[in-house]
Amino acid sequence: MQLLAQLSQQLQALDERSLIRRRRTVDTPCGPRVTVDGRELLAFCSNDYLGLANHPLIVEALREGASLYGAGSGASHLISGHARPHALLEDRLAGFVGAHLERPRALTFCTGYMANLAIISGLTAGDRDAEIFSESLNHASLIDGARLSRTRVHVYPHADLAAIEAMLKASNAATKLVVTDSVFSMDGDLAPLPELLALCEQYNAWLVVDDAHGFGTLGARGHGALEHFDLRSPYLVYMGTLGKAAGVGGAFVAAHETVIETLIQKARPYIFTTAAPPAMAHALLASLDLIDGAEGALRRAHLQALVAQLDDAATGLQLQRWQRLPSATAIQPILIGDNAETMRAGAALYEQGLWVGTIRPPTVAAGTARLRVTLSAGHSTMEVSQLSAAINALEKEWT
Ligand SMILES: *Cc1c(COP(=O)(O)O)cnc(C)c1O
Repeated sequence: MQLLAQLSQQLQALDERSLIRRRRTVDTPCGPRVTVDGRELLAFCSNDYLGLANHPLIVEALREGASLYGAGSGASHLISGHARPHALLEDRLAGFVGAHLERPRALTFCTGYMANLAIISGLTAGDRDAEIFSESLNHASLIDGARLSRTRVHVYPHADLAAIEAMLKASNAATKLVVTDSVFSMDGDLAPLPELLALCEQYNAWLVVDDAHGFGTLGARGHGALEHFDLRSPYLVYMGTLGKAAGVGGAFVAAHETVIETLIQKARPYIFTTAAPPAMAHALLASLDLIDGAEGALRRAHLQALVAQLDDAATGLQLQRWQRLPSATAIQPILIGDNAETMRAGAALYEQGLWVGTIRPPTVAAGTARLRVTLSAGHSTMEVSQLSAAINALEKEWT
């Protein structure tokens, strides 16, 4: 059949450029050690930054939530799917980041992808007088949100404050939306949020902050990027995900109550989808208790120690040809450049029982393929030493 032949040809073209993606099926819970095809691996690729995905208290809360509220929500939030745990979770999340907002309110979503679609389309779709200013390294979901809204988009170069200021100055739009990741997901660096917020206030623009990798890990209490930078403003629209550091799944938006009411009334990715199982919200309440408490603080401190260990002359990374990108977060990219060499490096580590993510275009720019090491509070210093030694040896062997 002609149609299938076309698809096969396209897949083959991807394969020839080392761009085919493969899934591996994991038989054990998410954690530093997982089993794949009967082999135990030491994994450095999940976003379970605090090691909560298999935490006994959260697993127990999920079980309890299922026995109290059943398996599914049965409907969208606006029909009959909005259950008590969803309402409790929203109140709790509004309190979590509310110190940084004016008249804070939170709204939960099934995924961060959908939350981002909802924010951007909900605040700009159908508004001919709106413009979006999007950071060049933004996550795909923010890009797709702009596409869904069909609003005009200006992309500004990574962390380039002069460029974004020039764009805001030149814009006559009544509604301006500056959109950025807080922690860049493939680079691990932080956006200059205080400076961006000052520009947004000066030019009367919303600042949409995607804190997928900051929520739970940044700030003394794990409340995320707004706490880390101590930002306060009614111009902030905050998105945090709950499937990474929080260890469960879903996401939320927190902002001024009028912003949230607008999303409830207008954001199609909020309105036209079934609410997440209430048991998940119940489990997330337990996760927030951990993040906010002494255990969360200990886990964040251990994670920071592991990040610092990568700089250690004896037990960290010592690279010459490959380049460790400057990152102070759990996301630690090692730039290799070539797709095929990156895949070979990933495969060689995997052979040794070390599972590290390999990132290629289009997720990153052409010529910047990389290993993406993610650290978790669940890792030990020994495990990080083992990974560093293996990567150091591999680079030396291939140079
Ligand atoms: C993971 C991620 C998302 C999407 O969140 P999900 O809950 O996984 O859908 C959005 N933005 C960034 C920066 C992310 O890393």
